[in-house]
Amino acid sequence: MKKVLVLGAGQLARMMQLAGTPLNLDVKALDVSSNKVVHPITPEQIYGDLAAGIINADVITAEFEHVAHDILDECEQSGKLFPKSEAIKIGGDRRLEKALLESCNTANAKYYFVNSKEDFDKAINYLSLPIIFKTALEGYDGKGQWRLKVAADAEAIWQDMADFLNASTTVNQGIVAEQMVPFDREISLVGVRRINGDVAVYPLTENHHTNGILTVSVAAPINTKLQEQAGTVFKALSDKLNYVGVMAIEFFQVGDQLLVNEIAPRVHNSGHWTQQGADTCQFENHLRAICDLPLGSTALVRPTAMVNIIGEDTIPDEVLAIASVSVHWYNKGKRAGRKMGHINVSGEHELQLAQRLQNLADILCPKAFPDLNDFAKKYLDKQS
Ligand code: AMP
Repeated sequence: MKKVLVLGAGQLARMMQLAGTPLNLDVKALDVSSNKVVHPITPEQIYGDLAAGIINADVITAEFEHVAHDILDECEQSGKLFPKSEAIKIGGDRRLEKALLESCNTANAKYYFVNSKEDFDKAINYLSLPIIFKTALEGYDGKGQWRLKVAADAEAIWQDMADFLNASTTVNQGIVAEQMVPFDREISLVGVRRINGDVAVYPLTENHHTNGILTVSVAAPINTKLQEQAGTVFKALSDKLNYVGVMAIEFFQVGDQLLVNEIAPRVHNSGHWTQQGADTCQFENHLRAICDLPLGSTALVRPTAMVNIIGEDTIPDEVLAIASVSVHWYNKGKRAGRKMGHINVSGEHELQLAQRLQNLADILCPKAFPDLNDFAKKYLDKQS
């Protein structure tokens, strides 16, 4: 039985544990806030600290990219960390991410690094409005961002950003100014790379956000040219990093071109649909890759959508009466804006998926799922 330690004890470690059990993989999780190694589900304490967790693991991986660098370095020294700390650190720093994209000649939004008022003014000159400013470190779910749409707002936005930078206790914090891209839609590619360089990618997923948080992802047969373009980007970036495990790449689609928005060096929310919609789910494939086992097929078995449950700890039982619906709770304390679970819905074809999504939207409380009904209606119209 191979023993896997996951840095982070949230829902992603939990779902890795659930996927690893049939393969006889023993998955434990490091709760980074307490430094205790816990069972990812119960979450009973197993070891008192990281050092014991490292000794008792065969393989170490991470469920989030903002792991403190001293923890990553300690794990790296054991030779058991996959992917390597370099890849995890790149995912946690937008400046390193941009450097990686440049080194692979990968298309992305035009940008400028900002550390001072002078840089801020230069960024506005270099990029045309509208511009989005993002914190280089610690940004997630659209947090730590400012949007400058009209020049008249520049001073106020700079003041706010300067206050943020001054108040930041994070060493080496900075801002990346990015050209706002007039994208047609946001899509992501989840892929996996094994130690020997084998690569497999899932079908592209279309993503919808509400207030900066992913709310719905849909995986259905997609334009093969786009799929090839995304696959080429995945191969280039993952080869460059000598990457091992699952990695997600978020893209903006503009016409028939894909621009990389960001990279997540881990299993990803936009890949949760794979639990019901793919031959092998992303959690199992991540474990296979880091344990040096053959990768599982990433083929789409049936069109599938994932709906995030945000800030709610109950949903009506009738949801389970809809055909091909699976509910995944994370067993987390209720908090506004928190990802508490997700619902996967599948159909034999896209029309059936759209009908089931509409059934789901009809049952769920519109206050808790504000854009779902609108999304389901449009999706259904498109299929009918
Ligand atoms: P991020 O944290 O970088 O994924 O940004 C959160 C959301 O902001 C994205 O999902 C997009 O909807 C939007 N966004 C971020 N960067 C850009 C950009 N350069 N152009 C347009 N929209 C963006």
